Amino acid sequence: MVSYSYMANNWVETHREQWNVYQKNRAREYPEDNKTNFERWYKQNKDVHYQKRLVYNRANPERHRAQVYAWLMFPKAQTCVVNGCLELGERHHEDYSKPYEIRWLCHKHHKELSRK
Ligand SMILES: [Zn+2]
Repeated sequence: MVSYSYMANNWVETHREQWNVYQKNRAREYPEDNKTNFERWYKQNKDVHYQKRLVYNRANPERHRAQVYAWLMFPKAQTCVVNGCLELGERHHEDYSKPYEIRWLCHKHHKELSRK
């Protein structure tokens, strides 16, 4: 099992673009399925999740730094800035070198924006 997941991860590393396209299409086709799958997986793999985040954050220090600063500055989530949207927002950065310049976008609108 260990060696299998190692191989799977390795495949993802070497086929990053293909994998991203696959994930995007999948998320678009099965948004709910994806969410519940993640939640189920997350409950049993919290350590793995945080380990991955750690690795990701180390690889993207600018992004991580901006997120931490924004989180400290604006700890309470605000409503999405898209007209008519009432969902709570996530902190969106246009520029990671300006951590306090954020826009509040809900998960859906945030994803739509980063897709472009
Ligand atoms: Zn929204």
